[in-house]
Amino acid sequence: MSEPRTAFDSFVDALAAGEGYFLECSNGHASLPPRHVCPDCGDASLERRSLPERGEVESHTIIRVPAPQFEADAPYPLAIASFGPVRLTGRLENVDPDGGDVEVGLPVAVDVRETDDHRFVVFTPQ
Ligand SMILES: [Zn+2]
Repeated sequence: MSEPRTAFDSFVDALAAGEGYFLECSNGHASLPPRHVCPDCGDASLERRSLPERGEVESHTIIRVPAPQFEADAPYPLAIASFGPVRLTGRLENVDPDGGDVEVGLPVAVDVRETDDHRFVVFTPQ
């Protein structure tokens, strides 16, 4: 890829490899990369912790008018899922976007999908 890689790219790489992680400061606050200091207390000593394999849908919505690059995919469900102490946002796969099979508490795994120019986080029901 020609674009400069960012800390977020590295995080998505790790997710795609099944090695997702979050950051924990010495006071036990959890946050998602990219961070250089803890957003809660400013601690600069951040350690990587493995992301739990399963998350839980906390909220969800249907995207009917997406960003132009995702227009062909609409409508699709977007969810916020908690993985241990952190939350990720991603697309829900393998669900009927207009059906009632998406609910709060749905167990999901996280993965990454790649198109020609984009990568995005997805959740698959477990
Ligand atoms: Zn902290």
